[in-house]
Amino acid sequence: MISSIPLYWRLQKSRYNLIGSRCKTCGSLYFPPRQLCPRCRSKGQLEDYRFSGKGKIVSWTIIRAAPEGFEDQAPYAVAIIELEEGVKVPGQLVGRPDGIEIGKPVRAVFRRITEDGPAGLIHYGLKWEVVENQDRS
Ligand SMILES: [Zn+2]
Repeated sequence: MISSIPLYWRLQKSRYNLIGSRCKTCGSLYFPPRQLCPRCRSKGQLEDYRFSGKGKIVSWTIIRAAPEGFEDQAPYAVAIIELEEGVKVPGQLVGRPDGIEIGKPVRAVFRRITEDGPAGLIHYGLKWEVVENQDRS
């Protein structure tokens, strides 16, 4: 693990790849990544941890009055996702907001987040897609 890369790139890497932190001392997992384990304090040793990108919806709501830059996407659903590793993360759900239920399985997908004008920068990041007919094995 390289620890000297600038924070910006660490955050980009984290956002694109769902990389958080794992405490080697107590096994706690964190997303977004942390520099310090609140349980172990200075005794904790944190390393990068890549989450599976699988989880389930524990809470959700529909955004109809979207913030600036997201107007063309409304209505859309945002949810709290509990990852299979037990960590909860907020995120936007892709697709139409019907059929969303608490407990439904979701997976992380890489999608356009927003665009700065017609010819502008396009920002990508993780969103969440409801998985229908999931193989629960
Ligand atoms: Zn710890």
